[in-house]
Amino acid sequence: MALLSEFELIKKYFDRPARGAALSIGDDAALLRPNAGMELAVSTDLLLEGRHFRAGSDARKLGHKALAVNLSDMAAMGAAPRWATLALALPAADEAWLEGFARGFFALAGRFGVELIGGDTTRGPAGGPLSICITILGEVPEGLALYRAGALPGDDIWVSGALGGAALGLAQPGDAAASQRLDEPEPRLELGERLRGIASAAIDVSDGFAQDLGHILDRSGVGAVVEYARLPVFPGADARQVLAGGDDYELVFTARQARRTEIEALSRELKLALARVGSIQKAESGLQVLDAERKAMAIARGFDHFAP
Ligand code: ADP
Ligand code: MG
Repeated sequence: MALLSEFELIKKYFDRPARGAALSIGDDAALLRPNAGMELAVSTDLLLEGRHFRAGSDARKLGHKALAVNLSDMAAMGAAPRWATLALALPAADEAWLEGFARGFFALAGRFGVELIGGDTTRGPAGGPLSICITILGEVPEGLALYRAGALPGDDIWVSGALGGAALGLAQPGDAAASQRLDEPEPRLELGERLRGIASAAIDVSDGFAQDLGHILDRSGVGAVVEYARLPVFPGADARQVLAGGDDYELVFTARQARRTEIEALSRELKLALARVGSIQKAESGLQVLDAERKAMAIARGFDHFAP
């Protein structure tokens, strides 16, 4: 393995010509020109080896996933992603790893017009955990961002795609389709942007459907009833994986009942399944998931890093 300096490494793998940014990689800070009438949406995610991904994970898939989880936050806000920064703590300057990581990262960035405008690169402790921290910046027209707050009793609850696939992939690495859901999630950016002005609240499913819907309920001061039979189940996933499995990066959103036909038309247009799975209630109901006999199911909580 050739020994690369920090600056050679950045130049070789991460420095790409600036397009939308006024000034990109190479100076002490990047300079950005947001469009008039837009609010900036900013979000950060840290991925740690041993915690969010296994040691020895495929580098290209990691490059994809590290960016995808950030893009998913933009989708949940109804924002269009524009810029990203990337901070890496690397136990070694492994060129094969860097090449794969950059390939996965830039393939996804290119699809959505995201520009890498800076970051930081540091050598972590030898053999220590690899850490990948991305900050994403996007734009959303003033006043049109999708919040977690905003759901009202009577609103429908909708879910995109399918739930439980990533958790199934984690449990059964031999299931190729499920593993792909875990390793290469698809951020629902088009859907997020199209839900501006339609959804009353939105979130992406990173920690599990029940927990993430719970965040909408908390922030909106409401409760919900969900019918399990209406949930879009990834083939082979069990109820725990569907309700509490994380890492699916689908969108959960609420909307007034009057928007149903519009949302169904959007689903056909985007060729993305959108399932109407329940309704928002007053806060006293809490979150209830009903089985086929309309009995309340026990709901496992999703992932919490600091749960005892
Ligand atoms: P500073 O010492 O001012 O923090 P650095 O020497 O760390 O600057 O970085 C030099 C340039 O390279 C900066 O523009 C920084 O944003 C960029 N950069 C560093 N690491 C990365 C990375 N992993 N991906 C993209 N840009 C990076
Ligand atoms: Mg630096």
